[in-house]
Amino acid sequence: MQQIKLTSSKIGEVDADAIIVGYFSDQSSSYAEEISDATGEFVGNLLNNGDFEAKPNEVVVLPYIKGLQANRLVLAGLGKSSEFNAAVALRAAGSAAKALSEKKLGHVVICFPADFLAEAVAGVIVGNHGQDIMRSEPKIHSFGSFSVMTGNTSAVTEGQILGNAINTARMLVNLPPNVLYPETFAERVETLGEESGFEVEVWDDAQLQEQECRTLLAVAQGSDKPPRMLTMKYLGATEDAPVLALVGKGVTFDSGGYSLKPSEGMLDMKCDMGGAATVVGAMQAISLLNLPINVVGYCGLVENLVSGRAYKLGDVIRSRNGKTIEIHNTDAEGRLVLADVLDVASKSGADHIVDFATLTGACLVALGLDCAGLFTNDQKWCDQFREAADLAGEDSWQLPMTDNFSEQIKSNVADLKNVGAGRWGGSITAAKFLEEFVAETPWIHVDIAGPAWSDKEKKWIDAGGSGCFVRTLVQLAKEYSQANL
Ligand SMILES: [Zn+2]
Repeated sequence: MQQIKLTSSKIGEVDADAIIVGYFSDQSSSYAEEISDATGEFVGNLLNNGDFEAKPNEVVVLPYIKGLQANRLVLAGLGKSSEFNAAVALRAAGSAAKALSEKKLGHVVICFPADFLAEAVAGVIVGNHGQDIMRSEPKIHSFGSFSVMTGNTSAVTEGQILGNAINTARMLVNLPPNVLYPETFAERVETLGEESGFEVEVWDDAQLQEQECRTLLAVAQGSDKPPRMLTMKYLGATEDAPVLALVGKGVTFDSGGYSLKPSEGMLDMKCDMGGAATVVGAMQAISLLNLPINVVGYCGLVENLVSGRAYKLGDVIRSRNGKTIEIHNTDAEGRLVLADVLDVASKSGADHIVDFATLTGACLVALGLDCAGLFTNDQKWCDQFREAADLAGEDSWQLPMTDNFSEQIKSNVADLKNVGAGRWGGSITAAKFLEEFVAETPWIHVDIAGPAWSDKEKKWIDAGGSGCFVRTLVQLAKEYSQANL
């Protein structure tokens, strides 16, 4: 892990390739005053003239300013001080870091407000990391070294852990499907568990057979790459403390199976393991932060392909919990994988479950590219999650789970079918299907089909995997031990 240093030098004397400074639009700060003094009011004049308005994510790079030792002064807008929050801090620092990452810089210093400093540090790490991990000459370069102007060691450490965990989730999503498939995903997580302090158990296909994970195996059977299921355990609280289970959909490539996707819809289907990536990233952060919580992560890992062995429309599969499922669409495979994994989680003593899945295109239609859909069987638990997401600044919106949607997933030949009637409310019928496999355990399903992946880059983050909801899960884990659920 890169070592981030703390520094308390005078800004004018900081010797670095760049110094990134956060500015509010409506309020000065001691370091802004210091810069104005050192530069003979130069920055103050920029603000007064409207050349820099300090709007959120606004970045102005000023090379070789008189009065400063640093080669570049980078002004990062934070917007209004009253609207400052975790997401604003992360994005502002990320925007500045990303703007600088086109160049190979040796040493960069950041100077941000004391509030949400961890998120600002995380933002730099996120902004410094691109999706071009397979390019011979990457276009995004991380800083050679990086210091933070503060005495707050714990904020810097937490920020670094958060940033690295988000990047772990992004990296898993961004790796191509010929490199990342169930076995290699599992190997990477085993290494990560050793480094971060969580236990990893891997079920191979023989153990999955023994454990009667028949719906997961049905999806996997079309591929030559065998499936895996991961159980990741971090026990940071006493034995009798409640257990939070995190469940992730890990379809490392989704062709749609016999309900084949068109080419343009298939290209990005390496991202169909985004739910599993979020769970792994969260496990990494929660373990490294030593949070006082017992949390178990589960990932169902398969590839959904077409072959002479692949599952077909009309097949009926008996799931691990005994319910029979008639296959109406082989591209609705994520819910089949999750059905068995949710059953394992709920029968392994989970007190609360959250699952993450890039599950339905319908969720994109309903909520757009950046907002996750929430579905629950327990309002209090869902409110708790929503509060954590709001604090982390990650968008989510709850959708209804009324009984009439259950009617739509009844089959004429089996207990259930794996899609609803027609396209309408497709993300809700998917959630109703999942609900059949959690028994009475308080559960939230988070459909991240929108936010897990971005075709276009944003100012603070490259295109590709987003690492969404890792921060929300850290927030939720912090509160979980104290919550009265
Ligand atoms: Zn699919």
